[in-house]
Amino acid sequence: MSKCSICSNKIPELFLEKLKGTIIKKAGSSKQYPVCFECQKKFTTKEEMVKNLG
Ligand SMILES: [Zn+2]
Repeated sequence: MSKCSICSNKIPELFLEKLKGTIIKKAGSSKQYPVCFECQKKFTTKEEMVKNLG
């Protein structure tokens, strides 16, 4: 199970391995950061999410 990169909560996985939430990437990096639905609601832009990565 994936963990949110911002709040460390577990992210429930839906069928077909689709996450309830989103995946973001930092500029210049190929690493992927899963972000949960709650944080997605809290931080509305990708830039804000990247700023708040743990
Ligand atoms: Zn989160």
